[in-house]
Amino acid sequence: MAENAVGIIGTGHVGVAAAYALFQRQIAGRLILLDADRHRAEGEAMDLMHGQALVGRVSVRAGDYQDLAGCRVVVVCAGVGQKPGESRLDLLNRNAAVFQEITVRLDRHVPDAVVVVATNPVDILTSVMQRLSTRSPERVIGTGTMLDTSRFRALLGEYYDVNPRSVHAYILGEHGDSEISVWSSATIGGLTLRDNEINGRPFDAAAMNEIFQRVRGAAQDIIRCKGYTNTAIGLVIAYLVRVILEDQKSVLAVSVDPGGRYSLSGLCLSIPCVVGAGGVEATVPTGLSAEEREGLSASAAVLRNSLAGMTFGP
Ligand code: NAD
Repeated sequence: MAENAVGIIGTGHVGVAAAYALFQRQIAGRLILLDADRHRAEGEAMDLMHGQALVGRVSVRAGDYQDLAGCRVVVVCAGVGQKPGESRLDLLNRNAAVFQEITVRLDRHVPDAVVVVATNPVDILTSVMQRLSTRSPERVIGTGTMLDTSRFRALLGEYYDVNPRSVHAYILGEHGDSEISVWSSATIGGLTLRDNEINGRPFDAAAMNEIFQRVRGAAQDIIRCKGYTNTAIGLVIAYLVRVILEDQKSVLAVSVDPGGRYSLSGLCLSIPCVVGAGGVEATVPTGLSAEEREGLSASAAVLRNSLAGMTFGP
């Protein structure tokens, strides 16, 4: 399984949760952990390696950029964690400089990998990397609203008392306060939630709005309780890496430049995309209501404003 080599840059709470999920599910055959704090990466690599007897042979090593050569996917989780009360966009300036340096090094040492960006503000930093990298843009993917979509499906599954895997619904736009819930195409068993009673429950606008508010506020709620979020994003990263390694061509809400879809371009935000070995292979023209389209445009405007205020570049 050596061909399924995966690099993780930043082995803090998020990086280690991703490494654990990739290791435990044997998605990667070889994991290379890299952190500005080399001792931290070494400690995490040893700790994971010691589980091999229970999981199977997955090589885990701490390394440097040159050790990433041959990785098919590199995940970037390096950065500064969100503080209580701090918005994701407030993190922007603290992370952008770090990111510029990482982009240059990845281009030099692992030019063919698909890069998955998880560091916040994820949409902005995905845009930064796409603009600065010599890699083609479809090979730089932000996890975007994959986490929010997972939270949304989990809460809807709980409400309707069905397996969240049977809930088909998206959160799109910014991974942040301006994200939107797409009710027009949200379905369970082929039935739109808005127009049908499902499992004995009719659509309850107040309850649905509360679910969306819980999704949108989830990061802050978790950070208030435990100081950071990591386990669900770890699972999201592992899922996305598997989709790429196995060329699954799954439709996922990830952060990309829409390239004119929904009349949006020049910035990254989440829309449903076909993801495979080549990264983002196509965008999917999900039908949005007029209100949802407006919401997506408003979300894009928030991101465009942030990008306009930034100074980065070669
Ligand atoms: P953390 O502080 O625990 O870990 C960050 C790690 O990055 C540290 O170990 C640090 O040493 C390392 N680092 C910093 N600069 C580096 C560099 N230049 N090169 C290599 N390593 C470097 O933070 P965390 O809780 O793991 O969060 C990491 C990022 O993930 C944050 O930006 C956070 O907001 C984000 N996050 C994203 C999502 C999402 O859905 N995309 C969810 C949760 C957290």
